[in-house]
Amino acid sequence: MKKSKNKGRNERGPILPGATIGVLGSGQLGRMFAIAARRMGYRVHTLSPETDTPTGQVADVEIRAQYDDLDAVRRFASGVDVVTFEFENVLSATAEAAAEHVPVRPGGEVLHITQNRLREKGFLAAHGFPVTPFRAVRSRDDLDAALAEIGCPAILKTAGFGYDGKGQTRVSTSGEALAAFEAAGGQEMILEAFVDFACELSVVAARGFNGEFAHWGVIENQHRHHILDLSISPARIPPALARDAVEIARAVLVELDVIGVLCVEFFLTRDGELLINELAPRPHNSGHFTFDACITSQFEQQLRAVCGLPLGSTDLLRPAAMANLLGDLWQSGEPDWEAACAIPAVKIHLYGKLEARPGRKMGHLTALGDSVANAIDLVCRARDSLRRPSR
Ligand code: AMP
Repeated sequence: MKKSKNKGRNERGPILPGATIGVLGSGQLGRMFAIAARRMGYRVHTLSPETDTPTGQVADVEIRAQYDDLDAVRRFASGVDVVTFEFENVLSATAEAAAEHVPVRPGGEVLHITQNRLREKGFLAAHGFPVTPFRAVRSRDDLDAALAEIGCPAILKTAGFGYDGKGQTRVSTSGEALAAFEAAGGQEMILEAFVDFACELSVVAARGFNGEFAHWGVIENQHRHHILDLSISPARIPPALARDAVEIARAVLVELDVIGVLCVEFFLTRDGELLINELAPRPHNSGHFTFDACITSQFEQQLRAVCGLPLGSTDLLRPAAMANLLGDLWQSGEPDWEAACAIPAVKIHLYGKLEARPGRKMGHLTALGDSVANAIDLVCRARDSLRRPSR
């Protein structure tokens, strides 16, 4: 087992219950992490530019500061025992400022690589991982050359700060590609071949201090309008393919020297080939089912990993399906929670967001079933039952 090269490791032993965890970011991932951490007797401080946030509502302390306010970040870090993050677009300088005081896990280098699609794909390609064909686009000449090599249809994405399909356009002609490039206002971009995939898969995995590895198997994901809609566990794929996907994920965590949780998102091509679409160095939406359906959730595992504790069992209790609840569901008024509660094997998670905007992730449902098909049926029925007739 390859041991972590990370500095600031368990010199003083593991970080035990009663200690304080600092979370950079304040969304639903931080909220579910904070719930897991508080359940185990830790304290949680969160820092982000907002107040009354999903994480802040359950944390002990909510600090409002910009991520580039490095003095505030240093003050925040000096009041906690370890810092982790719940979204990867935290600036490198922020992670470095925090690391002056306490360990930051996963390390700043993992953030640096994964917060830019070009760096991420470049890293993966250089280490021999299978990725979608891509080219860097920093100028019009680059765009012409990239289109000549990759062809159309293709997807043009901004290289930095993208998620849930934000900053990306499917292009079918060079004219469309040029319009999308110009609309992005000269930002660094990446042109990717359009993958006509059979399905989308992910592996959420964790790596502990001593190189210990844990994963929740392969998850099958369905997207709508580039946003995750449904996740299914276990994925309905042959066991050999599932083993390959997990081995790729294991190798990615080792190469990146991750301490914490990381999700590898894959396309499965119609020829049965696995291609990595992207990495997320934190718990992931496709792993939310683990909260209810597994012995140890992805959030508790992140806690154990960043605290230097042994990892917990990832056993799946029953087949599970997770459906996201987007703000659109609130368009005809408050969803019918009572109706969803009437399906007993369904769990409701709401993130405490104050405003329901279309496309905004407000919560999710998880259903545990006797079979994958049963879990999907239950979660879809529960979500449908939430919808009020439009007025
Ligand atoms: P991303 O933000 O890169 O994860 O993209 C969000 C979603 O857009 C993916 O989950 C896919 O459904 C779709 N997508 C992104 N890149 C590609 C691609 N190269 N080919 C086909 N679909 C893509």
